[in-house]
Amino acid sequence: MTRFMSDKYRTLTPYVPGEQPKVTGRLIKLNTNENPYPPSPKAIAAAAEAAKTLRLYSDTQCTLLREALAKTYGVDKDEIMCANSSDESLDYAFLTFCDKDRPAVFPDITYGFYPVYCDLYGIPYTEIPLKEDFTVDISDYTGIGKNIFIANPNAPTGIALKRDEIEQIVKSNPDNIVLIDEAYVDFGAESCVPLIHRYDNLIVTMTYSKSRSMAGARLGFTIANKALIADMNTIRFSRSPYNVNSMTIAAGAGALADPEYMAQCRDRIIATRTRMNAELEKRGFTCLPSCTNFIFAKSDRVGGKELYLKLKDMGIFIRHFDRERLTEFNRITVGTDEQIDELLKAIDIILSEKAGA
Ligand SMILES: *Cc1c(COP(=O)(O)O)cnc(C)c1O
Repeated sequence: MTRFMSDKYRTLTPYVPGEQPKVTGRLIKLNTNENPYPPSPKAIAAAAEAAKTLRLYSDTQCTLLREALAKTYGVDKDEIMCANSSDESLDYAFLTFCDKDRPAVFPDITYGFYPVYCDLYGIPYTEIPLKEDFTVDISDYTGIGKNIFIANPNAPTGIALKRDEIEQIVKSNPDNIVLIDEAYVDFGAESCVPLIHRYDNLIVTMTYSKSRSMAGARLGFTIANKALIADMNTIRFSRSPYNVNSMTIAAGAGALADPEYMAQCRDRIIATRTRMNAELEKRGFTCLPSCTNFIFAKSDRVGGKELYLKLKDMGIFIRHFDRERLTEFNRITVGTDEQIDELLKAIDIILSEKAGA
């Protein structure tokens, strides 16, 4: 750290993303919940076409994309704000709605970026422990009187709340915002988007990174009532009005023009997840019930960190979290069937070595 760095950032602990090893040779990457299938050909074609106009600034309103999203999600285009990833949507939400007098609350086990934004912006926050079974106890949040951030389905557990459970939280905190981070909702949970017209304090964020195979494009969007979207746009236009680039805007709209493709990829991932869950259980793993494109699992024969390191040696990357309650677990992205076969083969080798040792 230089002597020039602002005092207010000197103690900041940044978010630690999953490793991004160079994908060379036989490397199997199941550590950051990327989609194993390519983006829709329509998204790729639209991005290539948009590349021709990169001379120009991108559309600060993302009009083409918001219109397509509005149609897809059955909302008005003024109820949507696009951003350079869900991370950026979250950034805008914390910045717009939280401060030292408007504290935040979220589960102790959830997306690791929430506390990082709070520290960055000096927002006081409370982390509420998940129940023993890793579910969210909604009674912990009803009438809590703080801004609430919940990933649904949650990460890294993969477990989802039902829409009417979230509605109870939203309804009982009318003077605070409730942000539902639906990064994984397409893999089998109920979206809260249908509630946004009923509650003026509800914000839903979604991303193209997981179900739409576009993590590298960096595209996320927020759905909420117009007034909340307008507030967030005030901050966006004070910071980064050209936050979404032209190729990404085009690719995002292109992907929406191809709903069958997304459904196909999603169905394949769900089928692979079901098989992977059963195969892991056969090998003595406990798997939390996943509504996502990953499985959070622990073995009764090999420690979480040991499994992670051994698989890494074999060229298979999964995500390990070195913290209390999670250390026996690993978060494993649902890859292609071939990748999961390789994973299972590697696990068999590791388990038989343990048994022989
Ligand atoms: C992946 C993820 C995000 C971030 O998505 P990006 O659009 O890639 O920034 C946000 N929240 C959760 C819970 C995630 O898992």
